[in-house]
Amino acid sequence: MTMIAKLDEIITVEVLTYPGKRDIFKEPQQQHVQIPGTFLMGEKWYLTHTCKQCGNNVEIRQVDIEYKDSGWFFMSFLSWRSIRDIQLLDEIGALFGLNISTDFDGEQPGSFRYYSLTGIFKGMALIAYYQCPHCKSQYLMTFMHAFAQNERSAEPDEMYVEKIYQVRFDHDTFMKRVKK
Ligand SMILES: [Zn+2]
Repeated sequence: MTMIAKLDEIITVEVLTYPGKRDIFKEPQQQHVQIPGTFLMGEKWYLTHTCKQCGNNVEIRQVDIEYKDSGWFFMSFLSWRSIRDIQLLDEIGALFGLNISTDFDGEQPGSFRYYSLTGIFKGMALIAYYQCPHCKSQYLMTFMHAFAQNERSAEPDEMYVEKIYQVRFDHDTFMKRVKK
């Protein structure tokens, strides 16, 4: 039995990024981002989109990612180590069309499986769950940090967001299952 119903999809977001000391850009950047897409991480960023349900703005921030479990915001890697409810993990993987990957070939002790993204970045997927503060509509976002290839270069770090879905599920049951 599936738990998560997909209602709609967010295809554009607005991101405001403030530069850190090491960034090559020195002024705040306003970015209009098509999903899937990337945006500058900088020192802090604010991602905003229109709520599909009520039309108000929904915002998530760098700080939400850092303090990943603040009641209305939850984040996790989509790996067997992070979410031990495999049925739920597989449901999320199927919902977003993700690929199963493994960190070693074969079944070695200590190896683990995870879901990876399928777009321009293919690393381990992160999932974020958040709600519209106005109407409590629920959203799931798949994303990853797309760090610059060469630490010494001036390449800025980016966030890659693959998908944002408006969804519906029982909040308490979901939280219980992702944390058990
Ligand atoms: Zn809303």
